[in-house]
Formats: sequence, structure tokens, C-alpha cells
Amino acid sequence: MKITIIGAGPGGYETALEAAGKGIEVTLVSAGPVGGTCLNEGCIPTKALLRSAEVLETVREAASYGVEAGECRLDFARAMARKDAVVEQLRSGVEFLLKHKLITLLRGKASLCGGQPGGGEAETAPHKVKVALDEGGEEIVESDYVIIATGSVAASLPIPGADLPGVISSKEMLSLEALPKSVCVIGAGVIGLEMASLLNSFGCEVSVLEYCPDILPRFDTDLAKRLKQSLSKRGISIETSAQVKSIEAAPEGLVTSYVRKEKEASVTAEKVLMAVGRRPALGSLNFEQAGIAVTPKGVLVDAYMQTSVPGIYAIGDIAGGYMLAHTATFQGRRALNHILAGCPSEGPVDSIRLDIVPAAVFTRPEAATVGLTEDECKANGLPIKVLKSFFRASGKAVAMGETDGFCKIVASEQDGRILGCHLFGPHSSDIIQEVTALLDRDATVDDLASIIHAHPTLSEVLLSAAKG
Ligand code: NAD
Repeated sequence: MKITIIGAGPGGYETALEAAGKGIEVTLVSAGPVGGTCLNEGCIPTKALLRSAEVLETVREAASYGVEAGECRLDFARAMARKDAVVEQLRSGVEFLLKHKLITLLRGKASLCGGQPGGGEAETAPHKVKVALDEGGEEIVESDYVIIATGSVAASLPIPGADLPGVISSKEMLSLEALPKSVCVIGAGVIGLEMASLLNSFGCEVSVLEYCPDILPRFDTDLAKRLKQSLSKRGISIETSAQVKSIEAAPEGLVTSYVRKEKEASVTAEKVLMAVGRRPALGSLNFEQAGIAVTPKGVLVDAYMQTSVPGIYAIGDIAGGYMLAHTATFQGRRALNHILAGCPSEGPVDSIRLDIVPAAVFTRPEAATVGLTEDECKANGLPIKVLKSFFRASGKAVAMGETDGFCKIVASEQDGRILGCHLFGPHSSDIIQEVTALLDRDATVDDLASIIHAHPTLSEVLLSAAKG
């Protein structure tokens, strides 16, 4: 069996490795560096820089832990060089694995060889992929199945000044040569807040403008409010319900004008970071001619991640939905399992629950979420109980000196089944995985309360909440 995978991000390369491991002949086409947005210009470089920020903050606060650390200063160039080294190490690791699994890697831009508009069925060749090779020339790859995993691109605002020099995306932010003195972040979503937290730790003056009444609009409202308080306490200015109107270049910097509660205001900063979401990279794949149904939100897929053309699948950001690396990876596994099961038209092909998706925000402190929020349950008329606990009551958090945070578990009032969990506090991104596993197994809060948790660990915040 032959599969062509277009896009080598965590959706594409992970699926390629998995497929090759099952004895399938795989061709992986990559228009950019292997690893995609996540590894090269998203999650990984951000986490590498956040680690520098964490070290910096720890050294800054050393005296309160009884440690004399001396003078502490960020060397931005060295932090960026370390970030590049981390990315390079992981990228070459993925390249090694692809080679080791005998995957054919074609570097270039792929498009589907659909039929001509108005052409007969014989002219359509949806399982043929044309690759314009980076080294010149082109290659046609024919296979039994095609998996599209071409990701997303940063969205921008259609406002005057959005294309001025100095108005940058997160990708450009991650490759700056010098640390800006001040940054205005438009959008208090995941990218906006992670960048705001990072820049603040680095000593940059940060203002955030968010259109919605709360930050992190898709997260639990309590969590968002507490995170906002915590970030504000650190000196990050956050304005919500702010409608950005324009950006202008002035001698003192970029002036971002906005309207809030019918009053006009502005923020002046050296750079403006546009963090208003991402959109599927629907661009040049030739979907229409290949007969694949798309909407502006992404390629339409069924529960098996199969597009409207049998044998062609779309996974990850290109299919819309949760734009998260791990979603792409598991959607790829679903597509592969469907292929391996002989492409049934109904019935399960695996036990992966694509509706249970943990998500984390790597601010300081971190936030993490899985399952339904309290508001979602109420909006759907679900009778629930809400259980809370606080990091300040955790021995480990007090010993660490990181007590800012809380845990909220949302459970069914009828049978105690866990419906969601929302965390804000140190290492929330790791703690959320326990609840994800429990949600996956339809566990109740009593199940959680009867599991021995090691003491002293931060995971005990879950136990405290479950015990009410
Ligand atoms: P997002 O959708 O998380 O947030 C965009 C924010 O911009 C929202 O709060 C939205 O209300 C706001 N916004 C939109 N229009 C605006 C306007 N005109 N003025 C002010 N604010 C406006 O998108 P993102 O933060 O750009 O991230 C893109 C995707 O990448 C998301 O799907 C995110 O989950 C993913 N991502 C995940 C991680 C992670 O898992 N840690 C990290 C980075 C990005």
C-alpha cells in the first residue's frame, strides 16, 4: 500500500512514521522545514524562550529563596541562539527518524492533480499529487491514499496600518534580532498571552488589547479572570472589550488606536504583535479541481478525517477545529486506522476520543483545560456540580513559592461523572493530563478521590477538589 502525506508538521510527520511502522510505503511532501509550525515557529521555540524567561525570573527572585545569585541580566542573543539550537536538535531528530523508517521525503510544494473544470471523470486523478520540487523540476506521485496536513497561517486584521513595518506575527516575533522596549499585543488568545508573559519576563513593556469581554474567550471564565489578574499584577496592561481601529507610524513608535466603552484610546509601542487567530492554509492545493469540499473554516471531513473525495484525508489545522499539534497527530492516527481497517463507511476504527482535547497556555503561571466549561454546561442545561481547590493549600506549591492558582472540576450532578477540568497554576499543563485520562475513561469524581496521589505533589490539587 502507498500513502502520500502532504505537510510535515506534527500531523504529517507523526502519521508518516506511524504508517511506515505498519509497513506502508510513504512519501512525505514538505514545503517548509520538517516539523512544521509547531517545531520551527510555534510551540517549541516559544517553550525554549519561556524556559529562558523562567530561569531569569527564578534568578531574579533568588533572594527570597535564601540564595545570593548576584547580578542577573538577559542576554537576548544567547537566549535566541539556545532557542535555535533546541529547534535544530529536534528537527534533525525528526529527519533522522524519517530516514530510519525509509520514508521518501520530497521537499517542495504539492498540489492535487484534479481534473479540469468540466472535464469528465476519466480526467480526474485525485490520488495523484504534483510536487514542484525546491531543487527544480516537478514530480508526480501516485498512491492509494493521500493525507493532507498543510496546517494554518496567521490571520491579520483588515485595518489601516496592519501591514506597516513593525507589525509582526508570532513567527517574526520568534526571530527578532533585538528585544523591543515595548510591544502592543492585539488578541488575548493563546499566542497573545504566551508572548505577553514571555516579553514581560524579559523586561519588555507589554500592553494587550482583546476584542472580547474576557481574555482566552474559549476557556473557563473563572480561569480567564484569575489569569488576567495574575498577569496584570506582573505589570502587563490588559484591556478587554477593546475594538482595534488602526495602527499608525509616529516618531515615538507604532500607535494602535482602539475604542473601549465608546471611548477612543491608544497604545504606543515599538512593535505590534498581531495574534488574532490562525486560518487554514487553503491556498494552492487545488481543492476545487480535485472535487474536495472546503469552507473558509477548513476542509470538510467526516469522523474518519476523510474529505468529500474517498481516499483523500485532511488532518490538523487545515481541517479547522482545535488548532493544536496533538489534535493533528491523533487525527492522523484516525485517518490511518480508517485506511488500515479497509475504509468502512460506519462503525469505530479505533478507541481514540477526538472530542477530548486537553489544551495548555504556557503563561506564568500556566493555564490548562479539558472537557466542558461551567458556562458550556449551563448553556446546555446540564445539571452540574463545581468543585474547586486552590494551590495555596498545596504543600508542594507553598514549598515552591508558587501559590497563585486554582483548580475547578465540573462534574455531572446526577452521577458525578467528570465533564471538565480547568486549571491555573504551576505545571497545570502536566496536571491536566490526569484528568484527560479520567475523562477518556468516563470516570467520576469519586473515582478520582479514591486514587492515591503521591504527597507532596502539585497533582494533589485535583484530589482536594475531588474531595470537595
Ligand atoms: P486564538 O483564537 O486563541 O486567540 C485570538 C484572540 O484574538 C481571541 O481572544 C480573539 O477574541 C482575539 N481577537 C480577534 N479579533 C480581534 C480584534 N479585532 N481585536 C482584538 N482582539 C481580537 O488564536 P491565537 O492565539 O492566534 O492562536 C492561534 C491558534 O494556535 C489557536 O487555535 C491556538 O489554540 C493555537 N495555539 C496553541 C498553543 C498552545 O497549545 N499552547 C500555543 C499557541 C497557539
